[in-house]
Amino acid sequence: MQLPQDESLPRIIPRSEHCISRQDISDSALKVLSRLHKAGFAAYLVGGGVRDLLLGLHPKDFDVATDATPDQLKDLFRNCRLIGRRFRLAHIHFGRDIVEVATFRGHHADVADEALASTRDGMIVRDNVFGTLAEDAWRRDFSVNALYYNIADFSVVDYTGGLEDLKQRRLRMIGDPHVRCQEDPVRILRAMRFAAKLQFTLEPELVSAVAEQRERLLAVSSARLYDEVLKLFLSGYATQVLPLLRQYDIFELLFAATDLCLKKGMPHFDTMLQRACANTDSRIQEDKPVTPAFLFACLLWGPVQERAEALQQNGMSPIQALQEAGHDVLIEQTQHIALPKRFRLPIREIWSGQERLTNRRGRRPFALLEHKRFRAMYDFLLLRCEAGEVQLKELCDWWTQFQTVNSEEQKTMCDDLHAQRHGQRPRRRKSRRHND
Ligand code: ATP
Ligand code: MG
Repeated sequence: MQLPQDESLPRIIPRSEHCISRQDISDSALKVLSRLHKAGFAAYLVGGGVRDLLLGLHPKDFDVATDATPDQLKDLFRNCRLIGRRFRLAHIHFGRDIVEVATFRGHHADVADEALASTRDGMIVRDNVFGTLAEDAWRRDFSVNALYYNIADFSVVDYTGGLEDLKQRRLRMIGDPHVRCQEDPVRILRAMRFAAKLQFTLEPELVSAVAEQRERLLAVSSARLYDEVLKLFLSGYATQVLPLLRQYDIFELLFAATDLCLKKGMPHFDTMLQRACANTDSRIQEDKPVTPAFLFACLLWGPVQERAEALQQNGMSPIQALQEAGHDVLIEQTQHIALPKRFRLPIREIWSGQERLTNRRGRRPFALLEHKRFRAMYDFLLLRCEAGEVQLKELCDWWTQFQTVNSEEQKTMCDDLHAQRHGQRPRRRKSRRHND
C-alpha cells in the first residue's frame, strides 16, 4: 500500500467508527491516561493493547505513550519507577499491575544508536531524544503496533497504515525492513511472534528482509535472546511459533543442535516437541504455571539423547552418559541463549531422571517419589511415550499406578517387579485377595 507522502499527517478515526471502548481497558491504564490528560499532557494507549482490542482480542497488558518526560512522570505519579538505561521508561505500579509509560521518542533514539549512549568513561548518557507523536509512530516496529488511542477524544490515530494492515491481516514493518532488521535483529523474532499470535502473513519485503538479515541474530546478546525465546514459546502460541521458526530458517540459529537432530530425522523427538508446545499452550490457556526448565529440557532432549547413546556405546553407564551429555549440551546452548543458572539443575535432573525412573530396585522408587523434581521427570517420561517411544509404555503405566495406590500396595508393586526379575510368579495383591 501507498505510504502517506507527509509522514506527519495521520488518519484519525473518531470514536463512532472504531470498536475500542473504555470498558475494555484496564482500570490502571485508564487511571494513568486520565491523570496525564488532566495534567495537560498528551496521553495515548499504544502497541499491543490497541492492536489486540481492534482485533477483538484481550490484551495482556497496556502500554502508554505521552509527551510528559520521565521526570514529569515521577512528579505526577507517586507509584512510579523509572527503569531502563538506554531508554528511560516509567513503570507505574498498581499492586501487581504495572502500566508501562514511555515518553514519545524522536528519530535518533533508535536501538542502533546504543553506542552513542555511553561516554568514554563508560557512564551511560541517557538516550532520551524525545520526539513528537509522529516521530514516535514512525520508529515503532510494525504498522499494526503503531496505532494510538487518544484519551482526549477517544479517537484512533494511524500514521503508518496500520489499520489497513490489520484489515488485510498482514505484518508490515515500518520503513525499510532490511534496515530495520539490521538495526535490531530481534525485530525478526518479534515478526515471528506476532505472525504466530495473530495468524498474520508477513508482507513480501519483510519475508526477504528476514531471509537476508536472519544471521544477524547470532550477534544479539544471549540475555536478550533468552528473553525473546521465552516470549516466543511461553506466550500461548508455541504451536504456531515452532513451524514458523523452522520455515524461516530461524530455529537453526537459536537451537543449532536441536535443529540438526530434526533435520537428520528423529521422528519421536519431532513429535515430542510439537506435543510439548501444545501442552505449554493449553497450560497457559488454563492459567496453569509453565516453567522455562521443562521447556528447555524438551527443546534440548534430542541432542542429549543422541550424545548419551554415543557415550554408552563407548562403555559409559546409562546414567553417567545422560549426565555428561546433558552437561555438554547445556554448556553449548547457554553460550548462545543465556538460560539462567537456576534452571540448569532442574533441567539436568529431568534428564537424568529418565534413567532413574527405569531403575526400580529396592527402596529406589520410594525415594524418587519424594524427589523435588519427580513430577517433572514423570511428565517428561509420559511425553516421550506419547510421542512414540512405545517401549516406555509399561514403565509409564507402572509409575502412574505407583502414585495412586497406598504404601502397602506400593510395596507389593516393588516386590512383584523383583519377583518378575527373578523369574518368579508375581504375588497377588493382599487387598484383592480380600475381595475375591
Ligand atoms: P505484546 O502483546 O507482546 O505486549 P506489544 O506489541 O505490546 O505486544 P511490547 O514488547 O509490549 O509489544 O512493545 C510495545 C510496543 O513498543 C510495540 O507494539 C512496538 O510499537 C514498540 N516496540 C517494542 N519493541 C520494539 C523494537 N525492537 N523496535 C521498535 N519498536 C518496538
Ligand atoms: Mg505490550
